[in-house]
Amino acid sequence: MSGQSGKVRLRLLNTPFLHSSSRNSTKFIELTNDDFHVFMLSAIDENIRAKEKTSFLLKKTYQCRQCQTKLETQREQQHLFEFNLSHVEVPVFQVQIEIPAVVCPACGVHNVIETPTLASDIIEAQTEAFLSVPNL
Ligand SMILES: [Zn+2]
Repeated sequence: MSGQSGKVRLRLLNTPFLHSSSRNSTKFIELTNDDFHVFMLSAIDENIRAKEKTSFLLKKTYQCRQCQTKLETQREQQHLFEFNLSHVEVPVFQVQIEIPAVVCPACGVHNVIETPTLASDIIEAQTEAFLSVPNL
C-alpha cells in the first residue's frame, strides 16, 4: 500500500489483514476513518518529529528528538524513515515514510520539522495508500 502527497511518500508493509475477508480485517478496514488517521498521525509523529520549543517571545526552536540538540531547520533533505507500528486491532505492521528531514549534528538522527502542510500531506498520502488496496 502506498500513497503520496506533496513531499510525503508513505508505504505500509506487511498488512495482509487488509486483504483478508475475516471479521478482524473488516474491523480494521472500518478503522480507515478519522480514528485510524489520528492513530497513524500520532504514531508517525512520535517516530519522526523534532521536539518544539516556543520561547516567551513566541519564537519556535527545534530540538533533536533523541538528544535535544538544537537543529538547523533550513537543512532539510528527503529521508526514508522505517519503523514498526502496532495497533490493538491488528498484528504489527511496517511503515515507510519518505519526507523532508534534518540531520541532528550531534547524534545523526533524522528529525522532521513541522510545516503547515505536514499533517494534511500525511493524511492524504495515507488515504491514497488505503485506496490503493483492492476491494477496500
Ligand atoms: Zn541528536
